[in-house]
Amino acid sequence: MSSLPSRLTALTSSSSRNNILHLSKSQLLTLTLDLLRTTLLLLFLLRYTRATFLQLRGYGFLGTAQQFIKYVRRKGYALFLRLPFVQAKVKADLDKTMLELEKKLVPTGPGVKSFVSLPEKGWSVDEVKGELERVAGMEHTRWEDGRVSGAVYHGGAELAGLQERAFGMFGVSNPIHPDVFPGVRKMEAEVVAMVGSLFHSPGPEAVNGAGAGVTTSGGTESILMACLAARQKGYAARGIKEPEMVIPETAHTAFRKAGEYFGIRVHLVPCPAPTYRVHIPSVASLINSNTILLVGSAPNFPHGIIDDIPALSRLATKTSRRHHIPLHVDCCLGSLLMPFLARTGFPVPEFDFRVPGVTSISVDTHKYGFAPKGNSVVLYRSKEMRRWQYYICPDWSGGVYASPGLAGSRPGALIAGCWASLMRMGDDGYGDACLKIVGARQRIEDAVRQNPGLKSSLQIIGKPLVSVVAFLAHPAAAQGDKVDIYDIADKMSGRGWHLNALQDPPAIHVAVTMPIVGAVEELVRDLEGVVGECRGKSVGGKKGDVAALYGVAGALPDKSIVRELAGGFLDTLYKT
Ligand SMILES: *Cc1c(COP(=O)(O)O)cnc(C)c1O
Repeated sequence: MSSLPSRLTALTSSSSRNNILHLSKSQLLTLTLDLLRTTLLLLFLLRYTRATFLQLRGYGFLGTAQQFIKYVRRKGYALFLRLPFVQAKVKADLDKTMLELEKKLVPTGPGVKSFVSLPEKGWSVDEVKGELERVAGMEHTRWEDGRVSGAVYHGGAELAGLQERAFGMFGVSNPIHPDVFPGVRKMEAEVVAMVGSLFHSPGPEAVNGAGAGVTTSGGTESILMACLAARQKGYAARGIKEPEMVIPETAHTAFRKAGEYFGIRVHLVPCPAPTYRVHIPSVASLINSNTILLVGSAPNFPHGIIDDIPALSRLATKTSRRHHIPLHVDCCLGSLLMPFLARTGFPVPEFDFRVPGVTSISVDTHKYGFAPKGNSVVLYRSKEMRRWQYYICPDWSGGVYASPGLAGSRPGALIAGCWASLMRMGDDGYGDACLKIVGARQRIEDAVRQNPGLKSSLQIIGKPLVSVVAFLAHPAAAQGDKVDIYDIADKMSGRGWHLNALQDPPAIHVAVTMPIVGAVEELVRDLEGVVGECRGKSVGGKKGDVAALYGVAGALPDKSIVRELAGGFLDTLYKT
């Protein structure tokens, strides 16, 4: 068999008269097509062999088989849902649920006025103020009394007053015009520097070192930006066109959002009991030449567990690979508690830039930094890394355009509010808050582990070290002690508490805030009461909201109905 080059030479010289391999035009065409087909086939086979190899190495035979079975079940169920009579029933049920939701979220009645067009003549200042008072006073779950998990992290009147003053002074400001609002530019740089130094940024901006960061509108934007930067860098430095990232399944859903928005394939890694930390060997098998980012949480939202960041760092910087892989640590929730754990005497593993492989960290100043909502920081190990998240347009008719993140114009008032909060709290203030919040989490954890009324029915998830404590129905509970964890959530709602429902496994959590610190004993007492009511019996009759939603959602192989419900929920938010 002749080699490809010699065949090509033969082809190209086929017009010469003495050539033994004289080909007609049609023969030439056939041969070319043949060649093309063979090449395409080879490329196709190579691509799918590689994909198959990576799939099997990443998930193993068993994992792949499980994925396949899940896929078939999902498809089968989706087909079932498309049957006309099923569809009609599902639609009726969905409509009914949406109506109930609307009744709950959108108040109606004689006392409620709604405004769907501009008042013909602008209201007086007093009229507006009066209506604002009415809206602020609408009936709600009482975060003020420490009844809400997460949501309002500080809530103190003095700090709120200070933030209000910052808003008042900087309401018109916009950091996109640094010459018009030089104070806002200065404060933003200082917020990044202060937060960076807490996380041992290799050199906070203030001292012109290597580290860098930007402020964003919240944790989600910080995470989106870190993923985008890693993707852009992967493309530029390694030519990666089909980017992938490997994240713990407990990592915040903002990473999956980044996957959808930016076309990054997301691999979810299990976080198995008893530690509930990300399974490091599984991360290792999912890394390949398309991996642009590894992720660990410090701690994660569902269970408040800190992943093994040093082990992830070792994978990210493995010397047998030609390139280091970026490693993002999600400290959105941990925010300004994490740097203060060690200082206040609580145990804490390594998690910040002192771990060599960590290249970016997201920190929500609007969570335990106690800044007003709409504030977060994403830190990078180097200024070069930060460049990859910038958007620059040099040739727009509107001028040369440069913006650091998703937004164009940004609220300078929020930056001022953040700066004021950091300065007012200080090292001592955050240390004190850390002692109180982590101490309260410990108190709840101890009660669930030790109190006779709780320990036989509930089990703590892993070993929480920060502000979140999660628990599930004790899997080894005696028949008389068994509880449905979602019934517990509903009964707690009945007593005015708002705890977070979790799935996979079914569980609930409390994210302790400053308001909760003062209500911990009440929380433990109500939890004991509710567990007592639920113990040993499945609650008959109508299920509560949480039990109804998650009880059904967990059992469905195809989530299209849950998607439909959640979409309807979002629609309801815009009903007047
Ligand atoms: C809250 C949170 C985020 C996202 O933050 P948002 O400010 O809600 O966008 C990300 N990661 C963790 C662990 C969080 O708890």
